[in-house]
Amino acid sequence: MSTISNKKYEAVIGLEVHAQLLTKSKAFAAVSAEYGSAPNTQVTPLCLGHPGTLPVLNENLVRYIIKMGLATECKVAKKSIFARKNYFYPDLPKGYQISQYDTPICYDGGIEIELEEYSKKIGITRIHMEEDAGKSIHDQDPYHTLVDLNRAGTPLIEIVSEPDIRTPQEAYAYLTKIKQIVQYLEICDGNMEEGSLRCDANVSIRPRGQEEFGTRTELKNMNSFRNVERAIAYEIERQIELVESGGEVVQQTLLWDANKLETRKMRSKEEAHDYRYFPEPDLPPVIVTDELLDDIKKDLPELPSVRFKRFMDELGLSNDVAYTLTETRQLADYYEKTLQYLNDPKAVANVVLTEVLRVLNDQSISIRDFTITESRLAELVQLKQDDKVNSSAMQEIFNEMLNSDKSAEELAKEMNLIQVSDSGFIDPIIDEVIENNPDEVQRYKDGKKALIGFFIGQVMKQSKGKANPKQVRERVSEKLEA
Ligand code: ADP
Ligand code: MG
Repeated sequence: MSTISNKKYEAVIGLEVHAQLLTKSKAFAAVSAEYGSAPNTQVTPLCLGHPGTLPVLNENLVRYIIKMGLATECKVAKKSIFARKNYFYPDLPKGYQISQYDTPICYDGGIEIELEEYSKKIGITRIHMEEDAGKSIHDQDPYHTLVDLNRAGTPLIEIVSEPDIRTPQEAYAYLTKIKQIVQYLEICDGNMEEGSLRCDANVSIRPRGQEEFGTRTELKNMNSFRNVERAIAYEIERQIELVESGGEVVQQTLLWDANKLETRKMRSKEEAHDYRYFPEPDLPPVIVTDELLDDIKKDLPELPSVRFKRFMDELGLSNDVAYTLTETRQLADYYEKTLQYLNDPKAVANVVLTEVLRVLNDQSISIRDFTITESRLAELVQLKQDDKVNSSAMQEIFNEMLNSDKSAEELAKEMNLIQVSDSGFIDPIIDEVIENNPDEVQRYKDGKKALIGFFIGQVMKQSKGKANPKQVRERVSEKLEA
C-alpha cells in the first residue's frame, strides 16, 4: 500500500470464521462425522433429506460451542433456537441448512490479540451452531461433478467478529488466536489448509477520522492464514485506488485467487441469495441450564493467555519463551510434564525450544509424534545440570536418543561423553596446550586476558569434549597466572 493513501485511509475488517467440530457423530444424526472415509459411507436417510426423517441434536455440539463461548468471554443464551437457511445446491439434499439466525447461543464476547508492538481486543458479535453441506468434487471425473455427502450434517460453529480489525496483520493475529483457542479446547483441529477452519473477510475503507463505515466487500476462498492476510492487503489497496481515482466501492463477494494473487468477482448469479430463514420446526429450543453451564466451566482447560502469563509470573520465563511454549497446548503440556521430573524451568525450556522444536520442524511432525518422553528428556537435562556432560555432549546424546530406548546416562557412557572432573585427567592436557602456544601465553601475560577463551577451547578440543568446562576455566587461569 502506498504510504500516502495509508495515511489518508484506514481499513475496517470483520471476519466470519467457520470451525468444524471434532464431535464423533454428526450434528443431528447418529452417524460418524469422521473425516477421510470413503465417499458416501457416512450417510443416513436424514443426511439425504428423506421425508419423514427427524433431526436429533447432538449434545456435544452444544457443549463444544459453549466452551468456545466461555473461552471468548461471550454471554450464553439460556434459550436459543435453530433456523433453516434455504438454498438450492447439489450437495445440499434437504434444500436447507440448519443454522441459527436471530438467537445465536453465544454473543457479545471478545478476544485479545497480540501483535509485536501492541495488543488489542477484537469484539465477537456472535457464535452460532450450524451443520455443514456435502462436498461437490469437480476434478475427479472429466464430465461430471461428483457429490460426497459424508460432510453433510457435520457440526460447525460460526464465529462472527465485530468490525474491529484494522490491518491484515491484525486479521492474521486474530485467526492465529482462534486457532489456538479451539485447539486448547480440543473442539476443532484448527487446520485451515484442510478446511476445518474457514474464513470469510469483510473489508471496507474510510478516510481516517471518519466514524461512518464505508461499503464493504466480502472475500472468500482463502485457504491459509497467509492467504487471508494477502487477500485483505490486496483488497484494501484495490479499494483505495478505486476511490482515489473517483470510483465507488460496490458491495459484492470476491474470490481470492492464490495463484494470481488477486481477487476477482463471482458471477453475480451465484451471489444473489435470499435464504428465507425461518425457525426450524423439527427441533425444540436449546435450553442451557445453570447446571450444564457449571459442568462445562469445570471442564475448561487453562486457556492459552492465562497459561502464557503463568509461565512468565510463576516460572520466571521471558515473554518470548513463554509465548512459544504455550503456542500449542500439547507443547505446553510436554514442557510442564518434563518439569514434574526436573523442576528447572529455564534449563528445560532451553532444551525444548532449541533441540525439541528443531526436530519437530525438521521432521514436520507434531509433539504428539515426538519419540523422547518427558521423563527421558528430564534425565538428559539432569545430566547436564549435574555437570556430567557439557552442552555439546548433551546435544549429541539428544540426537542419539531420538532413535534409541536407552537412557541418557547409558548413552553418555556408551558414547564416552561423561565429563571428567578429575584434575589428573585435565592438568596434563592444560600443560600441553600452554607449552604448545608460547606466543599466546605471552600475550595473555601482557594483559590480553580475553585469550583465556582460546586456551579453554583448545583444552576442550583435546579432551574430546569430556573435560568439565567450569573446571577447565579455573585450572587454566590458575596455571596462566602462576
Ligand atoms: P452478513 O450477514 O451479510 O454477512 P453481518 O452484518 O453479519 O453481514 O456482517 C458480517 C461481517 O461483516 C461481520 O464480521 C462484521 O463485523 C463485518 N462488517 C460489517 N460491516 C462492515 C464494514 N462496513 N466493513 C467491514 N466489515 C464489516
Ligand atoms: Mg456474511
